[in-house]
Amino acid sequence: MKTPAPIDLRSDTVTLPSAAMRAAMADAPVGDDQYGEDPTMNRLQQRVAAVLAKEAALWLPSGTMANQVALRVLTRPGDDVIVSKEAHAVWHETGGSAANAGVQLNEIGARGVFTTAQFRAAVKPRGHIIYPPTTLVEIENSHNRSGGVIFPQDEVERICAAAREMEIATYLDGARLWNTSVASGRPVSALAAPFDLVSVALSKGLGAPGGTLLAGSRELVAKCVRHRRMLGGAMRQIGFFAAAGLYALDHNIERLAEDHANCRIIGERLSESTHVELDLSSVQTNILVFGLAADALDANTLVARARERGVLISAFGPRTVRAVTHLDVSREHCGQVAKILLDIIDGRA
Ligand SMILES: *Cc1c(COP(=O)(O)O)cnc(C)c1O
Repeated sequence: MKTPAPIDLRSDTVTLPSAAMRAAMADAPVGDDQYGEDPTMNRLQQRVAAVLAKEAALWLPSGTMANQVALRVLTRPGDDVIVSKEAHAVWHETGGSAANAGVQLNEIGARGVFTTAQFRAAVKPRGHIIYPPTTLVEIENSHNRSGGVIFPQDEVERICAAAREMEIATYLDGARLWNTSVASGRPVSALAAPFDLVSVALSKGLGAPGGTLLAGSRELVAKCVRHRRMLGGAMRQIGFFAAAGLYALDHNIERLAEDHANCRIIGERLSESTHVELDLSSVQTNILVFGLAADALDANTLVARARERGVLISAFGPRTVRAVTHLDVSREHCGQVAKILLDIIDGRA
């Protein structure tokens, strides 16, 4: 008997292009994008700029490169950049911000968010003889390591207004901005409005095989073009990726609500266990980050035992685990996952 494919909740990046997405890719007219001659890519970039209500947008191979390019365009080496605690830039980019932009990251707040007062208190003034100048604030929305939490938009607006007043640039790491939009009912254009530069991913919940776009003013995006090339990310016939992105924008945004509901199902079931530490109010989108109590098994053991039972999840710390729902897992899968994890955690398996 064939063993069933595992239920893979390690990330929403594991989704595979559907047959219809592959067909759209195969049919895409393409050209050399570095001459600006890939018609499908031009269409995607214009569409994303319009959706985000920015002047221009630029495709990059990954969200990590988008974050690196944003840092290089908005800062100078030696600058100080304010980010949320456990930002993707701090944990998941192999030190890229230090190596590529030469900046230091200052983590503030808690659980993925911070207040305007915390931001103001962290800003190091310019022109001081010993302080590194704070020239950029970066907000991650939704926040990956904090369990997909949404940054309250009124606070975003106050922080960005304060930044503008102090001539500090603003960047939104919106790898999962589509999730925030669907969960909060706010259009991505409203979520992006306060920021100079914004990234959105096609390869997370939207299910495309790759690509992140940076959007902002024409002037800033022109600078991004240069840094994309400098980092080796300028490519040629990338309309195939753009076609997948356009397909994803047409078909895979509204359905993110299902991922959020599925994540909630697992969260609610797990929170019934006294061995699980989980604040259900943090389960707002498609990412579940939970703790294992001191008297329970540790994260690596849970991950290994879950794998034996056909469920893939990630250890994010010694007693911290992450599971992410996405378009290749169904509600039934999520019910099974909850049962399997509970059985292991509560010692029934
Ligand atoms: C995944 C992610 C990125 C970058 O992703 P790539 O894997 O490099 O495409 C950036 N920011 C956040 C918040 C992410 O979750």
